[in-house]
Amino acid sequence: MHTPSPEEILSGIREWVEVESQTANVAGVNRMMDIVQANYDGIGATTERIPGTDGRGDHLSVASPWGGEEKGILVLSRLDTVHPTGTLETLPYRIDGDKAYGPGIYDMKGGAYLAWVAYRAIVEAGRTTPLPIRFLYVSDEEVGSPTSRRHIEAAGECAKFVLVTEPARDGGKIVVGRQGSARFRMTTHGRPAHSGGRHSYGRSAILEMARQIVAIEARTDYDRKITTNVGLIDGGSAVNTIPEHCRAQLDIRFNDLAVGQEMVAWLMERKSYDDDVTLKVEGGITRPPFDRTPAIDSLFSHAKGLAAEIGFELVGTWTGGGSDACFVADRVPLLDGLGVDGAGAHTLEEHVFISSLVPRMLLLRKLFETLS
Ligand SMILES: [Zn+2]
Repeated sequence: MHTPSPEEILSGIREWVEVESQTANVAGVNRMMDIVQANYDGIGATTERIPGTDGRGDHLSVASPWGGEEKGILVLSRLDTVHPTGTLETLPYRIDGDKAYGPGIYDMKGGAYLAWVAYRAIVEAGRTTPLPIRFLYVSDEEVGSPTSRRHIEAAGECAKFVLVTEPARDGGKIVVGRQGSARFRMTTHGRPAHSGGRHSYGRSAILEMARQIVAIEARTDYDRKITTNVGLIDGGSAVNTIPEHCRAQLDIRFNDLAVGQEMVAWLMERKSYDDDVTLKVEGGITRPPFDRTPAIDSLFSHAKGLAAEIGFELVGTWTGGGSDACFVADRVPLLDGLGVDGAGAHTLEEHVFISSLVPRMLLLRKLFETLS
């Protein structure tokens, strides 16, 4: 079977990276979907475009021509990035030693591309795999997958194994557990007044929010792996006016669903400290957590054996960031972080390690060939 050189793989990755596709750039995301769809159409896979909704890009579903309706391997990828259109000018595709730079190259066009190359090699060699292979490329992972979640869950129902091409962590580790996350918007509504003449009449929405924030941040508990972060805030209308409005957005992480639910309930039941200020909380769990179940563990052992054959040691890790894996990990054994090794996700330093491309592509290919 043909194993492409790192240069060959890189030239393909470069093409994908040079199509800018921030989640909000629907035309760019859809152009990426066109390219990927044409690739699979060109080698006889069945492709189906899922039109975008709610102002987001399309999703793309691909199925191998073999295996029929049987439960198979689901490869989960996404083609949106966090980089605003125009980032290519400051972060152009370039190579420096073992590093290749570009927007989204690590997170995660590189990994998505490796899965395509791995599959193509099998098809071009005239072979099939024990299980059918299906790919789902989504357009909105970086904003929490609001329009793709139901498609991911539906695809998970038809899967025996799920492989996620999110980037590897800290020197090539793959992901076998993730924290869950919840997001909230909080608004306080006070009573405006002149801060000089009518101070005692006023009720400050910002003061109320500040007291809420102190209480929320105090719920961070590293031992229980709960973190809270109020990451955005704005309020008030003038420096000499007691503020009527304040808005904040917060993010909570947890590694156990029951704990997450406990945190949601605690937040939803919050009362204002000042009876004259109203408090509103909206939000909830956006991604459930998953942990190394026995099923994930045995799939990991299998992958570790394959990596040893290729010549590298596969290490599993747990990470705080969410991914689409969280939507299916409770029902299907999966491995996440199977994409490229590199660093600098979401920054202008984003790069992949060129030396990781072939081994990681081979790991995906061997997983396709051996899972049954
Ligand atoms: Zn990301």
